[in-house]
Amino acid sequence: MKLFIINSGSSSIKYQVIEMADETVLAAGLVERIGETCGRLKNIAFPETRNEQESVIEQPIPDHHSGMLLAIATLTDKDKGVIGHVSEIGAIGHRVVHGGEDFRGSMRITPAVIEVLQRNIPLAPLHNPANLDGIRVAMDIFSQVPQVAVFDTAFHQTMPPRAYLYAIPYALYETDRVRRYGFHGTSHWFVAKECARLLDKSLPECNLITIHLGNGCSMTAIENGCSVDTSLGMTPLEGLVMGTRSGDVDPALHLFLKQNKGMDLEAIDTLLNKESGLKGLCGMNDMRDIHKAAVAGHVRAKLAVEVQTYRIRKYIGAYMAVLGRVDGIVFTAGIGENDPIVRAESLKGMEAFGVRLDPEHNWLRTKEARCISAPDSTVRVFVIPTNEELAIAREMAQVLRD
Ligand code: ADP
Repeated sequence: MKLFIINSGSSSIKYQVIEMADETVLAAGLVERIGETCGRLKNIAFPETRNEQESVIEQPIPDHHSGMLLAIATLTDKDKGVIGHVSEIGAIGHRVVHGGEDFRGSMRITPAVIEVLQRNIPLAPLHNPANLDGIRVAMDIFSQVPQVAVFDTAFHQTMPPRAYLYAIPYALYETDRVRRYGFHGTSHWFVAKECARLLDKSLPECNLITIHLGNGCSMTAIENGCSVDTSLGMTPLEGLVMGTRSGDVDPALHLFLKQNKGMDLEAIDTLLNKESGLKGLCGMNDMRDIHKAAVAGHVRAKLAVEVQTYRIRKYIGAYMAVLGRVDGIVFTAGIGENDPIVRAESLKGMEAFGVRLDPEHNWLRTKEARCISAPDSTVRVFVIPTNEELAIAREMAQVLRD
């Protein structure tokens, strides 16, 4: 069965087609600049030979509906397409950012599910409407095909109240569901399962700390296979230092900026989400550029790495205290998978806690999941590539089987 995985943004649609029989990716694409003067589709088809065949189309793409039709036309193209006919698509999976407290797992999409997603828009005003657009368009075009929603928040729904409640008036939780939700759940769950396999245990036997370091960054404490705490909060702004997002700051900063800089709340929100993090500290948000600049003597580039890795170390310490016993620490996503400096700095000085890296394994360049801790490290450390689309595909297969 071929699955169509869709991640719909406000002006983009990211997609993959996966053959579930052997979990191979047949095609991956991005439709972007929807609604702008000129839109763009980039599709990479992976024929059986694994030779990539790239197609780029630039033309006006007025809305998500026409974007989806363009993607389907490309996927079924007689020369470059990877599927003969749309009817070969057996199911459609949607990545949905916020499931609120309503969804503890993936859901087959029904009118009732759509209603709940709509109700949850205030929790993710930028993301959920775009996800809903993608769902509506896909249901319109593929009216006979089962559709599944996979939520970034669902894996974290096992957190206990002591971890998810903010110490603010309880009424705000009761009336408006103000609380920590956490994100990147599909990624934390995927690498946790892979880590359990590498530890030769079942997931419910594992206590893990998973560290997702991409443009967005988050960490999760996993006890007996379940998320018990995570660093992103009610929105994807809290916690670690990210590419352009601040992570933890004093909440009174808002008042300070208003009173002293005359900024309104929207401007402060933009500052914390788009102009902060690594970019705010050193003007760059791609870790490869930051390392190059640091080597060339850029003092604040070096400082940005120090601030980010110090924050990671603080959270590791906190999650060790939460978990008591830790079987594995996992690094994943763009920085986590590729950056030995950030990994080493994040674990610096943790020998007393039983964490000892093997420098040679840490510096090894490979795309394979691997252990990078020394043989005498009581906590094992892993690099495990995340694969959110494959995780979504596996979730969908499970939902459709149940
Ligand atoms: P997203 O959160 O957008 O999915 P990714 O997981 O793809 O992001 O991570 C993107 C980030 O990974 C880039 O901003 C870059 O900083 C970092 N990155 C990618 N490759 C490397 C590398 N070889 N070394 C260090 N950092 C890298």
